[in-house]
Amino acid sequence: MTKDKAPKMLKVVLFTGYACNNNCAFCIDADKRGLPEKTTAELLRETAAAARKGAHILEFIGGEATIRPDFARVVAAAKKLGIPQVSCATNGRVFADPAAAKRIVGAGIDSVIFSVHGPDAATHDALTRVPGSFAQLKKGLRNLRALGFERIGGNTTVVKGNMAALPRLAEFYARNRVRNVEYIFVDPNYGGARNDFKGLVPRISKAAPYMRRALAAGREAGYGQWKVRYVPLCHFRDCLDQISEINERALFLTEHWAPDFRNEDAIGSRAAVGRRKTARCRGCRLYRACEGIWVEYLRNYGDAELKAVK
Ligand code: SF4
Repeated sequence: MTKDKAPKMLKVVLFTGYACNNNCAFCIDADKRGLPEKTTAELLRETAAAARKGAHILEFIGGEATIRPDFARVVAAAKKLGIPQVSCATNGRVFADPAAAKRIVGAGIDSVIFSVHGPDAATHDALTRVPGSFAQLKKGLRNLRALGFERIGGNTTVVKGNMAALPRLAEFYARNRVRNVEYIFVDPNYGGARNDFKGLVPRISKAAPYMRRALAAGREAGYGQWKVRYVPLCHFRDCLDQISEINERALFLTEHWAPDFRNEDAIGSRAAVGRRKTARCRGCRLYRACEGIWVEYLRNYGDAELKAVK
């Protein structure tokens, strides 16, 4: 069976709500903070529904899911229902409390993805807009390691304020043995990056060299599986095997279950609605594999940086 024809795994991304203890400048949910959180009963119902539907991966995200008092309880319920991979994306701060880290690991969580937006407190805290958030994140990492928990991933939103620091951030990830990392080109279609486009969104031609250097640093350190996400492929021709979208299209069907919407084809609708290719893409040999660039990016910066690959 070829890779393309292999059955895809169902991944359900379960949004617990939009409340967060950080206040990231670029947050896609910046305009949704006032929406009500899901109740515990709703989360338990949805977890059971995901299990019935055959979810292989259940990823909890917020806002910040770990600040909920019921978080460990819901994780434990998901594991009891037999979902093979239960994970969460987190700003890591709750894990700075050893008791909380122990509780969540004890509930059976399989992997934890830390959002790290700079290699130092000055860069990271300037973007999270919470002084001390980087120190707590680092303590959270140490606490998880002390518990023997190894399945730690990382993601970084690439914006003007941190792009030049990506090579140093790659060293941070390598030093902390973070095997799966995604460098995510900021989404300006919604939220904070839409509201402050000029302050936050870099030109892809400026950001891509730093993103590629971060990938190269990972490869040198033995982490060839690090990836970049939400990028036009013409700026990443030398690392096409490290593009998240290509990888996820081959492997996953992804559903998003949020308080205010449900999307049963998150991958397809992002490509169809959120991103765009333009007339400059005509004849590009990467056309089919590529999703182009964010619609809002084109509205602000135009398409002059896209270059058809012949
Ligand atoms: S020219 Fe267009 S289709 Fe080709 S890689 Fe760039 S963005 Fe993608």
